[in-house]
Amino acid sequence: MKEINASDFEKEVLNGGKVILDFYSTECPPCEALASKFEDLSHLYGNDIRFLKIFRQGNRELAEKLGVKSSPTLLFFANGNEIAGRLGGGIKKGEIISRLDSMLPAKRVAEIKSGIKRTVSDFDVIILGAGPGGLTAGLYLCQAKINTVLVDISLPGGHVSTTHEVSNYPGFIDPQPGYLLSHNMSEQTKLCGTVYKVAVDITSVDLIRKEVVIDEFETVRAKKIIIATGTTPNLTGAPGEKEFKGKGISYCATCDAKYYEGKDVVVIGGGNSAVEESEYITRFAAKLTMVHQFDKLTANKQAQEKILKNPKVSILFESEPRSFTREGEKIITTVENLKTRSVSRLESDGIFIFIGFRPNLGMIKDKLELDQWGYIRTNEDMQTNIPGVYAVGDVISKKYRQITTAVADGTIAAMAIAKELD
Ligand SMILES: Cc1cc2nc3c(=O)[nH]c(=O)nc-3n(C[C@H](O)[C@H](O)[C@H](O)COP(=O)(O)OP(=O)(O)OC[C@H]3O[C@@H](n4cnc5c(N)ncnc54)[C@H](O)[C@@H]3O)c2cc1C
Repeated sequence: MKEINASDFEKEVLNGGKVILDFYSTECPPCEALASKFEDLSHLYGNDIRFLKIFRQGNRELAEKLGVKSSPTLLFFANGNEIAGRLGGGIKKGEIISRLDSMLPAKRVAEIKSGIKRTVSDFDVIILGAGPGGLTAGLYLCQAKINTVLVDISLPGGHVSTTHEVSNYPGFIDPQPGYLLSHNMSEQTKLCGTVYKVAVDITSVDLIRKEVVIDEFETVRAKKIIIATGTTPNLTGAPGEKEFKGKGISYCATCDAKYYEGKDVVVIGGGNSAVEESEYITRFAAKLTMVHQFDKLTANKQAQEKILKNPKVSILFESEPRSFTREGEKIITTVENLKTRSVSRLESDGIFIFIGFRPNLGMIKDKLELDQWGYIRTNEDMQTNIPGVYAVGDVISKKYRQITTAVADGTIAAMAIAKELD
């Protein structure tokens, strides 16, 4: 693996051979989540494909020339030509592997894969998800001397790590940057001795056998499992959204707002997240237009008052995006007014989407009892309907989803498990 600069681009990337190039930034959780996968894969594929990294902020001109709009972005080259389709945002290890495999003969791919060894390790408790709920459970279990592993598909911290400021977490007089609060939570749990397996792909989860397979070849087993996988932002479903995700459409203000200095931005949504993140984005953007489906904002009153006074912000009420298209450097959002049915065009340099969440259950929901919205039902000890399986935080059925409520759930589950295992 090698770090390059724009001046090396021609020599290192365009002059033949097979190359994977990672445009990364600092203060970018998805870039950090990618880093360990990129390094792991460089050990496996490094003899056949050159693994290069380039710092996007320090090489902006090249990034812009190549049309790299967000971090991280992975580009693939063969003999000087870009191939295989770009990857951006929260990149899965499996997605990279399938790109890399497509660049090599099948026989060589089989050889590389035959060199990977399967491993199995045993713990008392597996925690799936290292947001505030999972981290707190990890801390309490570790302090109770229970052998615990925290498994996360991303870096630890959950939503808090990408929230620019948290002003309602007790114990801090001043608002805390989200990344710092989550970093401190994570360090406290890690330093206690909880084992971390983060930035991994989950291959399978067996709640009955209490087995989780990570990155295809690594199995972790335990007596108990805590599900703390939180929620994921909803998509608008408008044409162009998937295509421009990570290429002008973002779901993370802390990651990408800094690239819109003096530019025009559209925000879809009008709830707490949309309003709070819009406030942050206006530190950089010259102009911000919110598109909101209702006739008034649904964020808390204090946040509403602040954004309504912000001179950079205008709001299109009772409106929804219908498509996202690109015209040169600009992204065009087609917006329909739900009352008049008239359609207008919004020209901007980037889009941020904040329109609610859904529980992260994916492959693990089958045998769990869920509520009507798909959230896990638990009892007061955070136990699910499956013996030995607990759930905490935003992923469970409850009325209020906050850091403090996730932390409380994590505490309860850990204490209940500690008592059971005693
Ligand atoms: C923009 C924004 C601003 C917010 N601001 C505040 C605020 O100011 N104050 C406040 O109290 N609350 C705030 N919240 C809410 C708060 O962040 C959440 O309630 C809290 O983070 C929930 O914690 P959690 O541990 O349940 O889940 P999350 O924080 O969502 O963490 C879940 C973790 O699970 C991981 N994961 C997902 N799927 C899997 C899987 N299959 N296997 C393993 N791991 C998985 C994720 O990568 C993540 O790390 C905000 C939320 C958002 C989105």
